[in-house]
Amino acid sequence: AKRTGGGRHVRFAQAMRERAARRSDIEADLRLALQENQLFVMYQPVVALRADGSTDYSAGVEALVRWQHPVRGVVPPFEFIGIAEECGLIGALGDFVLEQACQDFRGWQRTLGDAAPRLLAVNLSRAQLGQPGWSATVARILTEADVSPHHLQLEVTESLAAQDAQIQQRLHELKALGLTLALDDFGTGYSSLASLHLLPVDTVKIDRSFVSQSESSEHHRVLIEATVKVAQSLGMSTVAEGIETVAQAEVVRALRCDKGQGYLYSKPLTSDALVKWLDEHRT
Ligand code: C2E
Ligand code: CA
Ligand code: CA
Ligand code: CA
Repeated sequence: AKRTGGGRHVRFAQAMRERAARRSDIEADLRLALQENQLFVMYQPVVALRADGSTDYSAGVEALVRWQHPVRGVVPPFEFIGIAEECGLIGALGDFVLEQACQDFRGWQRTLGDAAPRLLAVNLSRAQLGQPGWSATVARILTEADVSPHHLQLEVTESLAAQDAQIQQRLHELKALGLTLALDDFGTGYSSLASLHLLPVDTVKIDRSFVSQSESSEHHRVLIEATVKVAQSLGMSTVAEGIETVAQAEVVRALRCDKGQGYLYSKPLTSDALVKWLDEHRT
């Protein structure tokens, strides 16, 4: 038994070494990626679910970063966002995403007119908010791209939005620019419906885990319904994330979710593919 334990220990140590090596590989590669334009942004449509059963495909999009690695191919964000946060690269990465997304958004307005998305959602990480004066950077990026702040929505997670007074102050500075905030992945963190009123957010994004169980579980439907009601009473709108089936879309529509997002409508698309998609879904 002792020998087995030792073997496990050796294997564990080896796994840790491999993990650390892969991590520092990614870290070094990521620095290069930022300089060599290997990062790019994809966009997933967010649709408005009207009560009359119709769908507005131009409601908005969410910007999602990707990394075209020269050897590994396209690397998904969960493999590098955490590392970027820990090694101090998230500021540059986040600014790149915001800048690219704003420029693309302005381009869609020019080419699509009425069919252009009305809202651009961009994910925010804690380190970006930590930078003093970051709201001035956001203002500059919006001005340079010629995008009006009311089209921009920054997505923050529960753990972030509920943070200390300084973070709250930063969030209010951002809102003062005229943009809006969304609470991402609602239901997965620690904060509850009871503390929703404490957060300076305009929109609540109901996590995919609730939506995916909404067909089979009455419990999850009740939670979605309660979230929508509390959000409405606070003047906040709601988005159901990760809708994959028509049945899920109809459940969240019946529960009065304002918007939906998920593979049922579209996977994340390149800017060009999004233009094509929006053009095909003109209403
Ligand atoms: P998120 O903000 O919750 O983004 C939604 C994720 O769910 C995206 O994964 C999207 O592709 C995926 N998704 C959308 N619809 C469906 C569906 O119907 N079914 C399933 N199974 N998945 C769906 P992605 O692009 O891999 O992003 C993962 C996470 O990485 C994001 O979760 C976000 O937390 C983070 N992330 C992505 N881009 C950025 C960024 O530019 N900055 C920061 N700080 N984080 C980012
Ligand atoms: Ca998000
Ligand atoms: Ca989310
Ligand atoms: Ca998530």
